[in-house]
Amino acid sequence: MDNIKGIIRKNNIRLTKALGQNFLNDEGIVNRIVDAADVGKEDVVIEIGPGIGSMTHELCKRAGEVFAVEIDARLIPVLAQNLKGFSNLHIINNDVMKLDLKRDIISLLSPERKPEAVKVAANLPYYITTPIIMKLLEENPGIDSMVFMVQKEVAERMTAAPGGKDYGALSLAVQYYSRPRAVFDVPPHCFIPQPGVYSTVIRLDIFKTPPVTVKSEELFFKIVKAAFGQRRKTLLNALSNSGCLAQGKQDIRQVLEDTGIGESRRGETLSIEQFAQLSNAFFEKGN
Ligand code: SAM
Repeated sequence: MDNIKGIIRKNNIRLTKALGQNFLNDEGIVNRIVDAADVGKEDVVIEIGPGIGSMTHELCKRAGEVFAVEIDARLIPVLAQNLKGFSNLHIINNDVMKLDLKRDIISLLSPERKPEAVKVAANLPYYITTPIIMKLLEENPGIDSMVFMVQKEVAERMTAAPGGKDYGALSLAVQYYSRPRAVFDVPPHCFIPQPGVYSTVIRLDIFKTPPVTVKSEELFFKIVKAAFGQRRKTLLNALSNSGCLAQGKQDIRQVLEDTGIGESRRGETLSIEQFAQLSNAFFEKGN
């Protein structure tokens, strides 16, 4: 592909900060991201936010089919022009948050193209990173791995272990659905325009079954959210103040005691196994 600066200038594109348009301007980094995604001809790849196609180009070379979802209509003709040689590219001009991934993407595959794997690769727009990742994890239309460029600080939260300041609801949600691994860091000068933060490429390998058994996912995530909603408070206070449980403070205290977790612990010290144990105990008690 031609050089990114040249394409932006030639097409008179004014990049929109509100859409997180920091384009990658480093072929070496693009190749390393696609290497981390481990894409082959048997794979279908969903790319979110292709921009003018720096990464899309490499994905189309390596993958069976590529679905590129871009919200900005101004970029679509440029993207189509830059990648006109690839018959395995499907461009979808939409907000990824508005798509039903199974209906709007997977069902478009021809019946003979049963993907060995659906993979996601994206240099994500930073204003909406967490909602996009949560949508993909929750709606999962048969994805087996995802590789994302995110803000370094978000990657640290996704991979955090109990006890630290980065550990929170995002860590638990990501680690319930997948095994996250930070692959490498990317400095601001690799983008046009340069973002104000360092970035990290992170890979999530999606679990076939979650690492813990919960009787109600809804209740599990409610409890996680309540525990971190008031993270300086003890579990007893955070859970009873949040109103997420039908039980009163005394009953909540009893469950915390019965599970051996204890009322004075803070949510940030609990492992995913302990959150599962707690939510199952509340489930047994009728919440
Ligand atoms: N992939 C390109 C690259 O690496 O150079 C561009 C990455 S840029 C960080 C993020 C891209 O996501 C932009 O092209 C932006 O227009 C697009 N985008 C922002 N919000 C989006 C949304 N809700 N749905 C789909 N695309 C979105």
